[in-house]
Amino acid sequence: MKDIAKKSHTMYLLDKYQLQASKKFGQNFLIDLNTIKKIVETTHINQSTCVIEIGPGIGALSEQLSYHAGHVVCYEIDTRLKDVLNESLGEFENIEIIFQDFLTVDLKKVVEKYKQDYQDVCIVANLPYYITSDILEHIISSGAQLTSIHAMVQKEVAQKLTDTNYKSPLILMIESVGDISLDMLVSKNVFSPAPRVDSAIISIRIHKPYEPLLTPILKTSFTQKRKTIYNNLKGLFNEQTKNILEECHILENKRPEELAIEDYLNLTKYL
Ligand code: SAM
Repeated sequence: MKDIAKKSHTMYLLDKYQLQASKKFGQNFLIDLNTIKKIVETTHINQSTCVIEIGPGIGALSEQLSYHAGHVVCYEIDTRLKDVLNESLGEFENIEIIFQDFLTVDLKKVVEKYKQDYQDVCIVANLPYYITSDILEHIISSGAQLTSIHAMVQKEVAQKLTDTNYKSPLILMIESVGDISLDMLVSKNVFSPAPRVDSAIISIRIHKPYEPLLTPILKTSFTQKRKTIYNNLKGLFNEQTKNILEECHILENKRPEELAIEDYLNLTKYL
């Protein structure tokens, strides 16, 4: 075991390759082995799982994932990390590293491929905070046959995503496919460089396929959160808006956050 996340090992790698964490790519490396082990425990992965990791960084989380999963596929955007990842993870036979922006990955196709050899495919990531929502939306709207998503996000974001009184397009997208939980709080002090705020691990368990028409319905419905659902949907359904809302038993003066996921799924039938 290399235990890359041990502070001494991380510092050795960062020093050797003279790596400055890139703000542009949201790089905050985990430097606490115990925290990483606890994160891996929350995922319940095993030898029949293929893990897709977004942003391996210098490989600290990837290494621990590889001891439990059957296979680990890592997508990293920062090509500066090629040499360091080659040294840290090169000898692990069950780790594959692909240098590509995850937002351009055809996830449905990738998951289909790994489903041929593994019972479950799941996502595990210490997400770059600047694109947390974009990445979660990309994963869910891909319609990929994933079992679960386990992601480190800012603590406040985790609290909002798991707050049953709060609604946003992303929260409704998640609700449409499964359920979400906040599994673990993570102190900002276990990262290098330390971010300004604490983090948390959220898990999304996927039980249902995604309805692709939900994306345009939700985007249009939340165009202006303070306006009524009627005013927002007028842009999509024009003069039919009143009738459609009536048929779906939705009061036209409701605000978008007052509708349930079932209402939005009903509305997709009229697109
Ligand atoms: N997994 C490492 C860890 O836990 O120490 C690094 C996590 S760091 C918060 C986020 C990682 O995501 C960085 O390695 C960064 O370069 C990478 N990243 C940022 N944007 C990305 C994107 N669009 N696609 C793939 N990787 C990305």
